[in-house]
Amino acid sequence: MDAQPLPVFTHAACFAHDTGPGHVESPARLGAVVTALRDHVSGLEWLEAPRATRGQLLRVHEPLLLHAVLEGGIDQPMQLDPDTVLSPGSAEAALRAAGAVVAAVDMVMAGAGHAAFCAVRPPGHHATAAHAMGFCLLNNIAVGAAHALERHGLARVAVVDFDIHHGNGTQAIFAAEPRVLYASAHEMPLFPGTGLPRDRGIGNLHNAALRPGSGSARFREAWRERLLPALDGFEPQLVLVSAGFDGHRADPLANIELEADDFAWLTAELVELAARHADRRLVSVLEGGYDLPALGECSVAHVRALQGGHAR
Ligand SMILES: [Zn+2]
Repeated sequence: MDAQPLPVFTHAACFAHDTGPGHVESPARLGAVVTALRDHVSGLEWLEAPRATRGQLLRVHEPLLLHAVLEGGIDQPMQLDPDTVLSPGSAEAALRAAGAVVAAVDMVMAGAGHAAFCAVRPPGHHATAAHAMGFCLLNNIAVGAAHALERHGLARVAVVDFDIHHGNGTQAIFAAEPRVLYASAHEMPLFPGTGLPRDRGIGNLHNAALRPGSGSARFREAWRERLLPALDGFEPQLVLVSAGFDGHRADPLANIELEADDFAWLTAELVELAARHADRRLVSVLEGGYDLPALGECSVAHVRALQGGHAR
């Protein structure tokens, strides 16, 4: 175990993104994560996420999307699409969620911590340069990756996405960016329908599509045989993780049948990847996960593994 506390960025504003009654992407999700981590994980340093700046967001987003999400001045919730809601509290939540990733990147790049976790919502990996979609308003991890490239001058940033939906937004934003490698294993067919193995971008995209019911063995095989070797070959200077836990067998939105230990196993592999190539620099960002007890359990398993506490 690391003696150094693990930074966890979050913000109260992330609870005020109000998706309405019955929506699975609820404020209670973040409550489940924060409560589980506070109750079951020691050695965490809780930090308040700053707002992302307009300049940081413009590295990956079109001004039109920023206007729609941040400057709408709405006084009641509105549907951006059938899944995605914008509420009066959403702009501040989105700014803090993206800002958390930027702050975490700054922190690990300064050598102040080897890894950091961002406990934030709304999630981000479906948001494209110009469109909010799939519960996502701004692409938090893409904003963090672009910050690492532009502010810190990195030449190789890995974005590792183990949410069980494909991160179409992240892929689209970086499909022509040689300094970013995107790796994802996801259920197919499933929303959003992208992420075929033949989607290679400029050779920087690595997609493993898993059939419903694949289970732990096939999930781990995809990472062990295909995605982790590609990441190793890339030799990333920073590892960013889209940490979605909706592959868990209890999750209502997917059918891939994973256990919390699968996320702990993969996290430990990513910690080792970061140790081999990136001076241990790793920033993980919460994406999906919609069964509240499973989300809490998986978050604990993930963060303990980030601390180096997962024995294999
Ligand atoms: Zn998901």
